[in-house]
Amino acid sequence: MPQAAIIATDALVIGAGPVGLFQVFQLGLQGIQTQVVDVLDQAGGQCIELYPDKPIYDIPALPYSTGRDLTQRLLDQVAPFKPTFHFKQQVSQLLRQPDGRWQVSTPQQQFLTRTLFIAAGVGAFVPKELKVEGLAAFTGSQLFYRLPNPEQIKGRNMVVLGGEDAAVDNAIAMTESPHQAVSVTLVHRRDVLQASPQALEKLAQLRASGHIKFVAGQITGIETRGDRLTAIAVSTPDNQTLNLPLDALLVNQGISPKLGPVAQWGLVMERKQLSVDPASFATSEAGIYAVGDINSYPGKKKLIVCGFHEATLAAFAAASYLNPQASGVLQYTTSSALLQQRLGIKPV
Ligand code: FAD
Repeated sequence: MPQAAIIATDALVIGAGPVGLFQVFQLGLQGIQTQVVDVLDQAGGQCIELYPDKPIYDIPALPYSTGRDLTQRLLDQVAPFKPTFHFKQQVSQLLRQPDGRWQVSTPQQQFLTRTLFIAAGVGAFVPKELKVEGLAAFTGSQLFYRLPNPEQIKGRNMVVLGGEDAAVDNAIAMTESPHQAVSVTLVHRRDVLQASPQALEKLAQLRASGHIKFVAGQITGIETRGDRLTAIAVSTPDNQTLNLPLDALLVNQGISPKLGPVAQWGLVMERKQLSVDPASFATSEAGIYAVGDINSYPGKKKLIVCGFHEATLAAFAAASYLNPQASGVLQYTTSSALLQQRLGIKPV
């Protein structure tokens, strides 16, 4: 893959989850511009991938939000600092340069950064693949791991595989505008599904009205004609094999986080987490900080609010690392003209 020109920056954040986003905000207050890299195609991390529509009740001063709302609010909050997002890129390599900067590489891009913030959570999310002979060849055309665009569903016979929130929510979405599939069949190994009570109630209604068909079983084979996938074979709990014709298959068997390359970067770790100093969230390497679910220190709790605190102290630490002469005096956004100027707030 062709590489773009190297981007030199003062700060790079790996991970656009809630903590990575708040890290961008806190660095912005310190006057530090950021580049952000995430392997996903959008910001939000676990909040978007695992529970976009579920409630969160423990964000300070926000009695209720969903994963999606919280992500949008964080994106609004960082907007004045104009971070550059690089989505669909996994950071694979990290090398220290002789001048002390870090060379950070993805397959598409190289960065040279003076400080690095690892907000990689529980790792990069990868959908669990369905391993059936010959099926992988249809990935992206008739086999999907995320809800495809409406035009890839409208007027089609869809099969959804899975028994949890994503599978149930997506099967329901396919019956509704703008997706409007001709038929939707949900396949799961048994007729016991794990989803929100509202989703299960809606599914029960759609099953009763014939808009969604449910089949208990496992996909064991495929049928093709020319270069088209035409049907799947489902073996049922009573040892029958059903042939289900289809236009496309959505597999929602869950996603699993892969810590992946983070573990190879030579940073001190403890049980798959990066060890940090809780006064600064610095890792074992100068200029590299770890915040959010990826780090470990005495008393660590994997909560968003804890990650926000960590990002705040890491930004202060990075500001004095980048500019040891800086006063490091605490300023309030309420009263500091400098912080308000950085936030783009016009003086009244
Ligand atoms: P993440 O949200 O995991 O984001 C990390 C990002 O880094 C991901 O987008 C990933 O793609 C990216 N990434 C990883 N490795 C790489 C790489 N090498 N290159 C590029 N990108 C990479 N917490 C609460 O405080 N309150 C709650 O009510 C709550 N409810 C929850 C409900 C559920 C079902 C779950 C699963 C978690 C819940 N949590 C809750 C926990 C909360 O979601 C996490 O603490 C939070 O998401 C951690 O944020 P993060 O930014 O550290 O990591």
